[in-house]
Parts: sequence; structure tokens; C-alpha cells
Amino acid sequence: MHIHEYQAKGVLKSFGVPVPEGYLAVDIEGAGEMAARLPGPVFVVKSQIHAGGRGKGSFKELGEGAKGGVRLARSIAEVREHAAEMLGNTLVTIQTGPSGKQVNRLYVEDGSQIEKEFYLSLLVDRATSRVSFVVSTEGGMDIETIAHDTPEKILTFSVDPATGILPHHGRAVAKALELDGDLAKQAHTLVAKLYTAFTAKDMEMLEINPLIVSKDGQLKCLDAKVSFDSNALARHLDIFEMRDESEEDAKEIEASKYDLSYITLDGSIGCMVNGAGLAMATMDIIKFYGAEPANFLDVGGGATAEKVAAAFKIITADPNVKGILINIFGGIMRCDVIAEGVITAVKEVGLTVPLVVRLEGTNVNEGKKIIAASGLNVIPADDLDDAAQKIVNAVGGLN
Ligand code: ADP
Ligand code: MG
Repeated sequence: MHIHEYQAKGVLKSFGVPVPEGYLAVDIEGAGEMAARLPGPVFVVKSQIHAGGRGKGSFKELGEGAKGGVRLARSIAEVREHAAEMLGNTLVTIQTGPSGKQVNRLYVEDGSQIEKEFYLSLLVDRATSRVSFVVSTEGGMDIETIAHDTPEKILTFSVDPATGILPHHGRAVAKALELDGDLAKQAHTLVAKLYTAFTAKDMEMLEINPLIVSKDGQLKCLDAKVSFDSNALARHLDIFEMRDESEEDAKEIEASKYDLSYITLDGSIGCMVNGAGLAMATMDIIKFYGAEPANFLDVGGGATAEKVAAAFKIITADPNVKGILINIFGGIMRCDVIAEGVITAVKEVGLTVPLVVRLEGTNVNEGKKIIAASGLNVIPADDLDDAAQKIVNAVGGLN
């Protein structure tokens, strides 16, 4: 689960991590009032969306030449002007995709005077089963670009969970960032606090870009991007309450209510499959025959007719879906249950695109009979290869 920058900074602050003073605003009036609480003379107005690259982003409604989603202001009047241009408008950044995200919340922050900008992140490294640090002197840039162009400027190390964070980790970070004296000391404490916050809150990723040295010699987190392990949210209700559903894909939220593993993709063929491995194989073979899947969907092993119907509705509600492939291997899941679920859903929402069904396994004959007797316009398929070719042909091949 992702949270907004202002929420992430709140969490970090509670662990003693240095962040600039700032306040949330949801309207122009509020933005002015929040700025008045800050010392000034420089304020920063920051669009709160679940995506990075805001500073270099642009607003759809404002056209070329307008400023991005993170702006400096030198007076309260200017804060209000920026708020008026940002709120309700759609910010497009390299991370939002072309459709962008609507800005509904602003964070009004004390403007820092920046001496240096660094990159620092923590993440769960699955290869070592440990929490890893990624540190670079090249702040404010994409870490992917640094990794590609100047990999020697990145330090990574992982922390042994048996010992936890140790002084030498802090020293390694200070050295990589070429900090000494008081700033090195600040780096030591920062590293320990970030690690504590990360593990205490079951974070999945914590990215500070940029971490800065201010002109008055303070190490501060100017940006914070945090995501949490969704499986651990049950023990962090304070974090769970920060969820902003308006930032999430509506189809994925609906799918999560039925405990379906669903992820929206860019293609045109909706897939309903049981088992993550079979779902991936199905997506691969659709691509092999020249089309693209519109989603990943694993209805799970023991799905009920109700769950299948919900899954079918989510797929058909997507305007990008030009054809549907149902590929089910009946193991624990019975093919007749799938067939009933599909028919219930079709009766309710209708079917306007071609549907290919491939059933195999437990009660396959009953399943096929149910579908045949329903009178639905279903294209039956014998195996995965046949099914993929039929659906790709039905939607007109390449997309
Ligand atoms: P994003 O990564 O989404 O573009 P950031 O929070 O990193 O958003 O802001 C973009 C840039 O704006 C930063 O790299 C930094 O240079 C500047 N900036 C952000 N917050 C402040 C602040 N409080 N004071 C001064 N400059 C800031
Ligand atoms: Mg940033």
C-alpha cells in the first residue's frame, strides 16, 4: 500500500527523522492559512499524488510553459496562486502515465535552502532476504538513470536482521555521501532512525529523493515515498487508515473486495484464469500470438460462482477489453462452478465482446454442457494454444 508524501513525512517525523515543517491543505483558503503558519520567506507548494516526478510534471489543463507539481512561492499570495492552479487539475508525470492524476491535496512546506542533494532508499531485497540501503551522491535524479549511466556512484549494502543496524552502516553512508564532522554524525543517526522506522512499520520501500544538506548545515528529507507490505497492515491500523482509495485503480479495489488477484494492464484481451502460474502462461501465449492482455487475474483455487461472477464483471466493465479469454484448469475449482458463475454474470451485465472459454479438469463435461445449454455466444477451445489463437483472431489480431 502506498501513502502520500505528507503522510510519509508524518510517519518519519514520529521516529525523529528530520523533515521540513509543513501542513496539508485541500483548498486555496487552507493553502494560504497553512503558509501563514510557516516561518517563510520561501514556501513550497507540493501536489500530493501517489506518483513521483511531480516537480518535472505538467498539468493537462494548463498547457505548455506552466510550472510543475512542486513549486516555490515567495509570498502567501503566491502560495494561493499556485494552489489555485494545482487543485482539481490533472498532473502528468513520468510515473503517472499519460492520463495523469487529479490533485486533491496540497502540502505546503517550509522552503529549504539546498546546498547538496543526495539519494537514499531502503527496500526489501528478496535475493538476500534483508533490508537493503541504496545511497548515492546524485540526488534529485531517477535512481534508474544513475544506475544505468554511473553505477559507480551508487552504494548498496544490506543489514543483517540478527544484528540490526550498526554504527558501521552509518559510517558507510556518511563516507559514500562525502560527509564529515557534524554532518557525518547526523548521517549516522539518520540511518539508524530510517532503519527503525522501516522495520517497525513493515515498509516495503522508503525512498528519500532528495535527501539534502541545507545551507545551514542540516541533513533533511525533502521528499519521502513510502509503501508498506499489505500483508502486514493488520498490525498497523494507523497506517491502514492513511489509505487513499481515490489514488488506486477502481477495478483493483473492487477485485480486492472479493479477494481476487487482479492487476490492470494496457492490452485488449481480458483474462480470467485460476492459478498465478497459469495466468502468466496465458498472458505469455496471448502475446505470442500478437495481442496484449488487458489484465492479470487469478480467481484462486477455491473460487465460488459469486467470485467468478464478480471477476467477470470487473473485466467487462473495462472499456479497453475487446475480447475475453477464460482459461480454467479444474483442480480444487470445478469447471461447472466456473460455468455457472460466468452465466450468472453475463445475464446480469450482458456480453458485447467475443468470449473464448477453455475448460479442463474436474467436472469439465458438466461445465461445457452448462455453457452450451445457456445459448450464450461462446467460442469453445480445446487447449491453451487453440484458445489463445481463437481470442486473438476474434479481436482482430495485433493491437
Ligand atoms: P518529485 O520527486 O515528485 O518531483 P520532490 O519532493 O522531490 O518531488 O520535489 C522536487 C524538487 O523540488 C526537489 O528535488 C527539490 O529540489 C525541490 N523541493 C522539494 N521540497 C522542497 C523544499 N521543502 N524546499 C526547497 N526545495 C524543495
Ligand atoms: Mg523526489
